[in-house]
Amino acid sequence: MSLRVQGLGHRFGLTEVLSGIDLVLAPGEAVSLVGPSGCGKTTLLHLIAGLEQASEGRIDNGFGNPAHVFQQPRLLPWKIARDNIALGLKARGMARAERDARADAIGRRLGLSPDDLDKFPHQLSGGMQSRVALARAFVLEPDLLLLDEPFSALDIGLKAELYALLLKELADRGASLLMITHDLMEAVRLTDRILMMAPEPGRVVGAFRLERPRKQRDEDWIYRTTAAFMDAPAVRQGFGLPPSPASGGSAGGEGNSVVESGVESVSRCGPLKPKAHACGKH
Ligand code: ATP
Repeated sequence: MSLRVQGLGHRFGLTEVLSGIDLVLAPGEAVSLVGPSGCGKTTLLHLIAGLEQASEGRIDNGFGNPAHVFQQPRLLPWKIARDNIALGLKARGMARAERDARADAIGRRLGLSPDDLDKFPHQLSGGMQSRVALARAFVLEPDLLLLDEPFSALDIGLKAELYALLLKELADRGASLLMITHDLMEAVRLTDRILMMAPEPGRVVGAFRLERPRKQRDEDWIYRTTAAFMDAPAVRQGFGLPPSPASGGSAGGEGNSVVESGVESVSRCGPLKPKAHACGKH
């Protein structure tokens, strides 16, 4: 049971949006896709979720029970929160009493009161709508969670709370995570590997492994590691930033990146080549 993507490429019309994407996601692993706006992250997630057909390459998804959380909560406006959460259970044919009980239980875990669960989406704040969207995915007990920046519009306190809930959910059930984010600190906090993408066409220009187990990452480690990443040539290349003085101006090359040598818990997978892959399989 794993996800394997090989030589994936995609075009919208004449525009090449993704090129030569290889990645492997193992059971229980959490991987983030980081990159600037428009580099094809959402397209890649849609291809993996089967919402879009790839122009080339291969996707073998061995996870039998994936769940997707989109950038926007995408709740059905005519259904109350409880029914939105239970939508997938209803599709599976579960009886109302059972699915309501499960929706209530997961809603409570995500900080939604019984009152909130009786409200329609337009009666909920943005943060509550995000909780409902996460609950709708968690209630399915997925073996693979596909998250497309579900935290980007939330305040810091709410993010911290939902990060903790997500980490607990993953740890409790050993689920895998593939998550898109623009936020390097979020990637460092939540995932085991970071794939750095660059645009035109969307491709992976760096792959990093975070050796420290997720539950052992304290704030100090997260800040230091994120700062180290900001100096990594692949990260600067991906975000279109000039080479960092700390990296000796070696963007795109094998230079003395802090990530390579200075942060004990982070190791880089291999050489960085523009328009090529840092590792054979990410
Ligand atoms: P963001 O971080 O801003 O969400 P992204 O990295 O997720 O961006 P995508 O949404 O995958 O990027 O878009 C990649 C490119 O593909 C963009 O140039 C976008 O305009 C284009 N694109 C996305 N969907 C379509 C579509 N259905 N038809 C044509 N072009 C599309």
